[in-house]
Amino acid sequence: MTIQAVPATTVIRRAYRLTLDPTPRQAQMLSHWAGAARAMYNHSISAKQESHKRWLQEVAFATYGPVALTEEQARKTIRIPIPSTPDFNAWLTGTRNFHREAAGKGLPVPGLRDDGREHEPWLHAVNRSALVGGLRNADRAWNNWMASFKGIRAGRRVGYPRFKKRGVARDSFTITHDRKSPGIRLATTRRLRIPTFGEIRFHDHAKHLQRKIRRGTVEITSVTVSRHGHRWYASLAVEETIPVPRLSKRKRTAGIIGVDLGVHTLAALSNGDLIANPKIKASHARKLARLQKRLARSQKGSRTWKQLVHKIGRLAHLEARQREGYAHDLANRLVKTWAGIGIEDLNVAGMTRSARGTIEKPGRNVHAKAGLNRSILDVAPAQIRRILEYKTAWSGTCLVVIGRFEPTSKKCSACGVEKDKLPRKERIFHCDACGLTLDRDINAAINIAALADVATAELPVSIRRGIVHGRHETPVEPPRANPFPTRAGNGRRRNVDRPARVIFAQ
Ligand SMILES: [Zn+2]
Repeated sequence: MTIQAVPATTVIRRAYRLTLDPTPRQAQMLSHWAGAARAMYNHSISAKQESHKRWLQEVAFATYGPVALTEEQARKTIRIPIPSTPDFNAWLTGTRNFHREAAGKGLPVPGLRDDGREHEPWLHAVNRSALVGGLRNADRAWNNWMASFKGIRAGRRVGYPRFKKRGVARDSFTITHDRKSPGIRLATTRRLRIPTFGEIRFHDHAKHLQRKIRRGTVEITSVTVSRHGHRWYASLAVEETIPVPRLSKRKRTAGIIGVDLGVHTLAALSNGDLIANPKIKASHARKLARLQKRLARSQKGSRTWKQLVHKIGRLAHLEARQREGYAHDLANRLVKTWAGIGIEDLNVAGMTRSARGTIEKPGRNVHAKAGLNRSILDVAPAQIRRILEYKTAWSGTCLVVIGRFEPTSKKCSACGVEKDKLPRKERIFHCDACGLTLDRDINAAINIAALADVATAELPVSIRRGIVHGRHETPVEPPRANPFPTRAGNGRRRNVDRPARVIFAQ
């Protein structure tokens, strides 16, 4: 009898983004579908705003008269429900049926709004799921605003939901996979099948994804089709079964790395490596400037003007893709090499705030600060952080986020003495106390590594394993009973609980 080794697996949600290559007619149809989703979004937002306005009026009304309530009481007692996706179901069915019948008879169909606008031929031609996707996005926007307003949502303030405008909002629609009639699938490795829409060619191919689907490790849950620049993309959201992340011996031996994301260099590592800043923005600056000059001199709305807008959009898109590529490269390199990665919790929104000030209190060095902001955004530290977060979770590497106010750059990594001041232009860190002379970013990276090391010291040995900076040994663990012995039977292969990989060190 042979005992089958039970592989330890876990299911993650991720997305595969594939470039589409629609025919001109298909590209137009994609725009129509995105337009339909946008119309649903706007319809929902409008209904929500309407209810909200009515509620505000009634609250105001209740605070007047002989039996006036206080505003607080009024806010608590008056309830007007805000319509959400399920409330639009019957309306959507009715309207679609009506449009379908009218279109069949060749009759003009009244518009979505009762303002005498002509009919929307797409409403019954578009997959219902794409329309519901628009409604759902509106729910999300509304809930985010509410949560932010009530102060139960972290991060920057979310504004009052606005309408999406054609040509301004991103063209996109989402179709969810219906398990009963699974419509989204790869027709071939070169063609994506979208229900109701049909088949669209990929720009390249999806062999890697097809293989995983055939093997049964990947299941498609939804597809979001969106336009960026001149390209259409399909982002396939999937549930993927992967082996439980485990640290390889090589990574355990490598230990923790500290990473200082910077402007001067893309990243400085605590082992002394400097990764150069690709300076993406600068590489396109001349071309962009030339296009913008021509745009400024052309007649707004003219044929040339439209072409130039298209070209500028294309350039911006190319830039974003390049930036993303560099971020992925860096993250891959870090995640594949180290058992633990320490990074700083950078407040990018705060860091890149304008120095302009107010009329009463004008800021100083506004121009220089604007340049620095551009450089920070050119490196996109928040994007690198986001990519690191999921890549570490999939690979078993531990990500340690160092508190925002730790003095990582002003502190000497050798003796720990802190400087009062360290001007940004000083590239070399020189310690007056011990004489250490080092690249300032590498000095910061070493401090980050040390802090990450302290932060992970409390972790159970099973997670921490060999994550000890500079110490090349694996802590000895007592052997445990293994319910699923492998061929070797050494009790090593077991289904370990997946620990929270992102650690916030404050
Ligand atoms: Zn020192």
